[in-house]
Amino acid sequence: MKVAVIGTGYVGLVTGTCFADTGNTVTCVDIDVAKVDMLLNGKLPIYEPHLENLVNRNIKHKRLFFTTNLEKAIEDAQLIFLALPTPPGEDGSADLSYVLGIANDLGKIIKDYKVIINKSTVPVGTSKKVADAIHKNALVDFDVVSNPEFLREGFAIEDFKKPYRVVIGTSSKRAEKLMLELYQPFVRQGNPIMIMDEKSAELTKYAANSFLATKITFMNEIANYCEIIGADVDKVRKGIGTDARIGKSFLYPGIGYGGSCFPKDVQALKKAGSDVNYDFKIINAVMKINHIQKLSLVQKVKTYFGEDLNGLKFALWGLAFKPETDDIREAPALNIIEDLLAAGAKVTAFDPEAMKNVKDVGYEIEYAESSYEALNDADALLIATEWSAFRNPDFDKMQDLLKSPIIFDGRNLYDISSMQSKNFFYQSIGRKIINNLKN
Ligand code: NAD
Repeated sequence: MKVAVIGTGYVGLVTGTCFADTGNTVTCVDIDVAKVDMLLNGKLPIYEPHLENLVNRNIKHKRLFFTTNLEKAIEDAQLIFLALPTPPGEDGSADLSYVLGIANDLGKIIKDYKVIINKSTVPVGTSKKVADAIHKNALVDFDVVSNPEFLREGFAIEDFKKPYRVVIGTSSKRAEKLMLELYQPFVRQGNPIMIMDEKSAELTKYAANSFLATKITFMNEIANYCEIIGADVDKVRKGIGTDARIGKSFLYPGIGYGGSCFPKDVQALKKAGSDVNYDFKIINAVMKINHIQKLSLVQKVKTYFGEDLNGLKFALWGLAFKPETDDIREAPALNIIEDLLAAGAKVTAFDPEAMKNVKDVGYEIEYAESSYEALNDADALLIATEWSAFRNPDFDKMQDLLKSPIIFDGRNLYDISSMQSKNFFYQSIGRKIINNLKN
């Protein structure tokens, strides 16, 4: 099939590449000239495991193309995917200007029947708005389909190629047939393609992300309570996770959810509710608790060192909002940097992939070449991202490099019982504090 993908970011690039990899001819279009240039030269603008090989393989086999020319990109395409940003507007609602702007353009340039598929995360009713915007100018038939994307950064290829489910919101049999044909290679293991109305498809995405954010937040509250009463959240997590009704995933406490999706989607659902006078009470609580949780690691630092951190230097391991990505949007590490700097501290950070993106923000901090280099002369280490490379460090070397062997672990990377035999002060989330410092 011939496919165009408009917006070549995390979602658009993965979508386009995976469709090309199943034999379709795909043209990805983006307004960012530098991004398209990089891709044309076989370089990736983002870090995502396994993506580079896949992109280059499909470029080589002439199934994957990149351009900045929208008209050229959609000319032959039967299916046009929108993978455009929907950032939070000032009032918290999803900003639809990118999506509706393109819909407006498409109406003017489509010359034959097209299926326009919205992959961006958008509020209920957006399919209709997109259709109206196209209809204003279009002289030919078209259908608008809602097809929310559930991939996780860091596992994007795996998630796209073997999705738990594919959700397709459409009332058009013609569009449904094309969508089923396109997605068939991705559900060979029997995972379902769910056809539903557009509104339900749009809401499914917000409901999924808000539920996951709630699950994380619930565990963070249990962890905070564990700290007060002396229980171990790891044991509680395992104790509840084996119950199939609860499930083992997303029960890990930490320093709050971040990333490009959960914060904005939770906020957008709240706003969409308030637009129809519905008060999402759970969502309100989730947002409030997550905000507090993001500040909790520096709060622990201040409880130890005092409110004024002048003259102290901290090593920070991890900047990305989660491992296996360079995405720093709404990353808790950024709150940590801001809070430490505001309290007068110095920060030396290390992240395997995300340092360039943080450097672009312009914080006045140092960057280390390696995780160990960041520890040099630091008064303590803070851990903000659970990269695997941080899981099994050389604790003797860490002790030598740190001014004092103190770790504030926002991701519970180390086993509490093994930390008990080490000469560290070790404070994590929802577990007891280990203090084996000599004086
Ligand atoms: P992104 O910012 O990485 O990519 C968006 C791309 O669109 C950028 O490359 C930008 O240059 C391009 N763009 C903007 N205006 C354009 C225009 N007029 N023409 C062509 N290209 C244009 O965003 P993303 O993370 O890929 O997210 C896209 C959508 O998918 C959002 O609605 C997001 O909520 C949703 N989503 C994201 C994820 C994720 O993990 N990142 C997962 C599921 C859904």
